Amino acid sequence: MSFSETLKNICFKLNIELSEKQSDLFSMFYEMLMEYNARYNLTAITEEEDVIYKHFADSLSIMMFNDHNEIRKINESSVIDIGTGAGFPGIPLKIINENMSITFLDSVNKKLDFIREVCNRLDFKNSFVVHGRAEDFGRNVEFRENYDLCLSRAVAALPVLSELCIPFVKKGGLFVSYKGSDIDEELNASKNAIRLLGGKISDIKKFNIPDTDIRRSLIMIKKENYTSEKYPRKAGVPVKKPL
Ligand code: SAH
Repeated sequence: MSFSETLKNICFKLNIELSEKQSDLFSMFYEMLMEYNARYNLTAITEEEDVIYKHFADSLSIMMFNDHNEIRKINESSVIDIGTGAGFPGIPLKIINENMSITFLDSVNKKLDFIREVCNRLDFKNSFVVHGRAEDFGRNVEFRENYDLCLSRAVAALPVLSELCIPFVKKGGLFVSYKGSDIDEELNASKNAIRLLGGKISDIKKFNIPDTDIRRSLIMIKKENYTSEKYPRKAGVPVKKPL
């Protein structure tokens, strides 16, 4: 199957009707990822099919639950992607949800050079690129409690990640953590942190990436209360002393 056929099939199974324009944008993004990867080492996953399943479909998996449960329509939301790296899950979601406002945050500027270039070439509207540590921006009034939805994939264990992410979420909004299948221990270890930060686990979705045996989870944490001024603690402390 061609790139566009594979992508279209998998999108269909993720509840997404992929337009030709969106398919072209994915193809451009893939080309750019390969081009920059030669210089910057952005991802170890490079085979076309692997990138489609493990990066694109995985990033888009939240669309299966769009407008269900606690998730507001993503296309109408303001979203922040913490530790976006090469743009996952933020870029695939922005291609599909043209109107959403998206902020890409990472502490490594060379990765953000790539993201800036993608945003330019794919002509994204309402996209913002922020260089710095989540702990610092989580205390900044322009960012704190300013987003409907905070997303993060492959950045830290959930007790740490909760302190990096929950401060960005508006009261009533949602933090969604992209995880593998083996999450019980992490969940247990994070209960205290989530409560201290004003969150509550509202749903856990377990599924396979369509057409694969790759098992994934989305942990959905609703922000029920404002986050105490104490959090996030100084950069580096959440990792050293998880709540
Ligand atoms: N989300 C991407 C990248 C994961 S790698 C993906 O799923 O492929 C983790 C990324 O998080 C790296 O780019 C790293 O620079 C960033 N990161 C780790 N800790 C961070 C912090 N405290 N603040 C901001 N970015 C952080």
